[in-house]
Amino acid sequence: MKPRVYVTRKMPASVLSRLCERLDVDIWDVEDEPVPRNVLLKSVAGVEGVLCLLTDRIDEEFLRSAPGVRVVANTAVGYDNIDVAACTRRGVMVTNTPGVLTETTADLAFGLLLATARRIPESEQVLLNGEWKTWSPMFLAGLDVHGATLGIAGLGRIGEAVARRARGFSMRLLYWDKVRKPSVEQSLGVKYRSFDDLLRESDFITVHLPLDAETRGLFGEREFGLMRPAAVLINTARGPIVQMKALYDALVARRIWAAGLDVYDADPVPPDDPVANLDNVVALPHIGSATIATRVKMASMAAENLIAGLSGATPPNLVNGEVG
Ligand code: NAP
Repeated sequence: MKPRVYVTRKMPASVLSRLCERLDVDIWDVEDEPVPRNVLLKSVAGVEGVLCLLTDRIDEEFLRSAPGVRVVANTAVGYDNIDVAACTRRGVMVTNTPGVLTETTADLAFGLLLATARRIPESEQVLLNGEWKTWSPMFLAGLDVHGATLGIAGLGRIGEAVARRARGFSMRLLYWDKVRKPSVEQSLGVKYRSFDDLLRESDFITVHLPLDAETRGLFGEREFGLMRPAAVLINTARGPIVQMKALYDALVARRIWAAGLDVYDADPVPPDDPVANLDNVVALPHIGSATIATRVKMASMAAENLIAGLSGATPPNLVNGEVG
């Protein structure tokens, strides 16, 4: 008998048929709508595995509702939606999708940096609103990216991919991470700084940290106070790493120049969100990894992790190695 699994969102057809070859699949296949919590908890009662998204909270309550679950396969590299410690205590394997979204997310982070520095969405709006009357010297003047100093908070896979792009723009590269990366320092010419020095010296700061107990709320009033008045914050990691009220105050008071955001404290953020509506903010709806090719790769990787774990093998992308 095939192991029973629950898939929490519509998946690409190729991925679904691969899952169905090996597993007995039940799916919430309403396009673009997360499975309601009560439906999720009811649906996982008899399953051995779940293929989920970051919109699904996998916590003690979930685990109590799914006593037979052995594998939780997340379709994301970040897994802050999952209580990994609770899964580990129950011997449940947790997997993620690292690597396949690195370059795509780095493209978006760099695009957001350019869009924010050069005020690209605001400029398009000016044109469409009929407010472009003439060429004038300081009309929609932004910041130079080339030659500026980029501070990378978290020089992991995506941080390093952003550094590679920044070299093409002749940027000076600094980073802060919990451990130094001498080989990357050498290969990319990135210099290590303490967190506070990174804030003080950077023209652009781009965040590529995971969200965990140490990074939650890392950027607050004190940190914005250390940044340059012309500094730009780019966050494509996770919203709660930045204290949104402190960011709002810093942007309104022009203690920093602008922010480019793909993530917020709420996901999705409402359209009347005060930060997203500021003129000096470029706000995107969490599309870091959203290319067709990458989303198919992520779904496929999550499916292979699920299949491997349920077949008794160690999944290729096991987060809690102590369980496998
Ligand atoms: P990664 O390779 O693990 O990089 C994270 C880096 O941060 C690593 O160098 C890590 O060091 C470091 N780090 C971890 N905890 C830290 C701490 N407390 N203080 C300082 N440094 C710390 O992850 P990635 O693949 O680059 O992804 C980064 C994050 O981006 C993900 O966790 C995810 O939340 C987010 N993301 C968002 C999108 C989007 O759609 N916007 C898409 C993809 C990813 P160690 O390796 O030593 O732990």
